[in-house]
Amino acid sequence: MSKVEQYITSIPDYPKAGIIFRDITSVLKDADGLRLAVDEMTAKIGDTEFDAIVGLESRGFLFGMPMAYNLHKAFIPVRKSGKLPRATSRIAYDLEYGSAEIEVHREDITPGLRVVIVDDLIATGGTLEAAVHLVEQLGAKVVKIVCLLELKGLHGRDRLTSCPTEAVVSYE
Ligand code: IMP
Repeated sequence: MSKVEQYITSIPDYPKAGIIFRDITSVLKDADGLRLAVDEMTAKIGDTEFDAIVGLESRGFLFGMPMAYNLHKAFIPVRKSGKLPRATSRIAYDLEYGSAEIEVHREDITPGLRVVIVDDLIATGGTLEAAVHLVEQLGAKVVKIVCLLELKGLHGRDRLTSCPTEAVVSYE
């Protein structure tokens, strides 16, 4: 297991009874934890060739941006609906209660673009699955997914079979 684990805080019964919330802000507030997290996530890309990092709002931005900067690659934000000013492409997906919609600037995802999708955490995998469909329906190719954490017991990875998926820290 990665040394990053020691910087993650686990909060029992948040946001509701029975849930253990994994808090990554305690990673960010420690200079060593922050560097370790970004470096280990970057290392998970390995020698995969790609053109841009697609980061998912909002915690995917916190890690995806420094990764893109360090590798001198482009960064493209996927945001919750209604926040991007240019023409967008959208996708809706189911949450545990209700549904959500994410979008990306359509002209930023060009056919053939090779992207790495970055988020903080894989839970059910629904958010990442929607993001994969969103960029692939515009003709891009998702060559890898990289997250800091994975909640293995929720089997999110099973929904992400179209591309290699990497997480730095896994919880059962
Ligand atoms: P999924 O769509 O079920 O995989 O949920 C993933 C999203 O939920 C991620 O973008 C996370 O930010 C958020 N999330 C779910 N559980 C946790 C947690 O324990 N800690 C931090 N974020 C969480």
